[in-house]
Amino acid sequence: MPDTIFDKILRREIPARIAYEDEDILAFHDANPQAPTHVLFIPKTPIATLNDLRPEHAELVGRLVLAAAAFAKQSGFAENGYRTVFNCNRDGGQSVYHIHLHLLAGRPLVWPPG
Ligand code: AMP
Repeated sequence: MPDTIFDKILRREIPARIAYEDEDILAFHDANPQAPTHVLFIPKTPIATLNDLRPEHAELVGRLVLAAAAFAKQSGFAENGYRTVFNCNRDGGQSVYHIHLHLLAGRPLVWPPG
């Protein structure tokens, strides 16, 4: 799988504002935030798109969601709410081919999304 900008962030070759880290997950603030809080949760193992997920990734993906929910709760967004999004491929608006869970919070988010 080709290197992405997120691999460079994981290797600390380019800076990012880290929001959360554990053995398997890194979360950092989006460089082009679409909400007052916009954090990306990525697995440390590179998986290009949701289409590349295999059954053995189930726990990892579950942990991404749990990490985002815990961050939202700790940051005070649980009650008002927030949005989590995985974009997939061109029509989904994916631009970085290393799966990432967007957490958007801090403003009302319209539905349907653009
Ligand atoms: P997506 O379009 O779903 O693939 O999301 C990729 C996200 O990565 C976008 O929201 C970008 O703003 C964000 N992004 C790209 N480069 C960086 C970077 N160097 N640091 C933080 N976020 C980035």
